[in-house]
Amino acid sequence: MDEVKTTPVLFLEKKDCCACGACVNSCPRDAVSMKEDEYGFLYPYIDADKCVKCGKCKTVCAYQNYKETNTPLKTWAAVSSSERIVMHSASGGVFSTLAAAFLKSKDYVSGAVFDDGFNLHHIITDNMKDLIKLQGSKYTQSNTGDIFRQIKEKLKTGKNVLFCGCPCQVAGLKAYLGKEYGNLFTLDLICHGVPSNRMFKDYLKCYENKKEIKTKKFLFRDKNIGWGKNGSLISYSGKKYRLFESSVSYFYYFAQSLIMRTNCYSCKYANGKRCGDISIGDYWGIQKEHPECLGGSKIDESKGVSVIIANTDKGLRLINEHRGLFNLYESTFEKAAKGNAQLNVPTKYDHKREEILALYADGGWENVEVKFNNEIGLRRYSGYIKSLIPQKLKRTLKRHLKQR
Ligand SMILES: Cc1cc2nc3c(=O)[nH]c(=O)nc-3n(C[C@H](O)[C@H](O)[C@H](O)COP(=O)(O)OP(=O)(O)OC[C@H]3O[C@@H](n4cnc5c(N)ncnc54)[C@H](O)[C@@H]3O)c2cc1C
Repeated sequence: MDEVKTTPVLFLEKKDCCACGACVNSCPRDAVSMKEDEYGFLYPYIDADKCVKCGKCKTVCAYQNYKETNTPLKTWAAVSSSERIVMHSASGGVFSTLAAAFLKSKDYVSGAVFDDGFNLHHIITDNMKDLIKLQGSKYTQSNTGDIFRQIKEKLKTGKNVLFCGCPCQVAGLKAYLGKEYGNLFTLDLICHGVPSNRMFKDYLKCYENKKEIKTKKFLFRDKNIGWGKNGSLISYSGKKYRLFESSVSYFYYFAQSLIMRTNCYSCKYANGKRCGDISIGDYWGIQKEHPECLGGSKIDESKGVSVIIANTDKGLRLINEHRGLFNLYESTFEKAAKGNAQLNVPTKYDHKREEILALYADGGWENVEVKFNNEIGLRRYSGYIKSLIPQKLKRTLKRHLKQR
């Protein structure tokens, strides 16, 4: 008897979907597309009229068919030798340094960029002019669209491709490709979770309405304020607004992990088994773990230090090939993980998240803003005050406190 095929059920609970997009990309009939839920988080839906019930979208799901992958081989603290790159990057500029090398060789780079409406999505390019758009962390979820298909086409031409994304996106890409490509190099970001892109855009609208401005450029991390979690916004009139983590509702709730996607709180990739050839993040705690490598002609932590973890031989080769482009200092996975919890465990769930999400679904970001203003009080000035303390003094204070 013929097997009766049914339309696949992509996920039963929200915790089982990370929106990597492997299912969307794998459908031979384009029957799967992403739709927003009440908070703006993306989830895949199947158009039953188009679906041919082949089941590819279900079997390709890396998140539900999770397999443990690589064990870290080598770890460094790293800063790009190019100060210009470091200043435009979130951390030590590892992504852009490698990306620039790929683009110089007319190879391809894929990462997340904003369009003019602040919709975050992945692109692939071989044009150096796109590097500035790719640079820098955008703390909201990127829509992968049909990028995995585009990457496969480029890989087939024999050109090298450098892909950077959250670990779930790297795992999704690999599951979609279904086989190893020697010319694909993957960078996974150490990630503590993603808010929805709609939340970010709604926060931005609130800020623009309050200031009566239009945003031209938004930086989640502005190095002119130092290496930290403070950003800035430049309006079309050219005025710059500094955004401190302690005074901006979106930054604050992101840093507190109160507005992340459901699955981020049980993320399967937030551990020492890394899916990318290389993992990159901020080397938080470098002052404590490696005081000997800081200052003078050594690593200057004032504008940001990255952690690089090579997880595969390919990743190790890539770093060794380009080591002249970095100021590298050998470390260990254990040391790096001390200041970066998501190298061991997923971000912690707090029931306050439901309260904030309910406020958002009820009355938009304005509602969330009211709650934030009520609860933050004088703490809102702490980011500004910290930014006034010179880095050298901060380092001395930290050393002093460590000795006590
Ligand atoms: C949502 C999110 C959460 C993060 N959480 C942590 C954390 O908890 N601890 C930590 O150490 N590091 C975290 N990071 C990584 C960190 O912010 C830096 O991106 C990383 O250190 C690399 O810095 P860089 O200077 O080498 O490169 P950057 O110049 O910052 O470039 C980063 C690359 O990431 C890509 N990218 C930017 N935003 C996104 C996005 N939303 N989704 C997918 N790709 C994106 C860019 O296209 C670029 O390719 C997070 C990043 C993101 C996007």
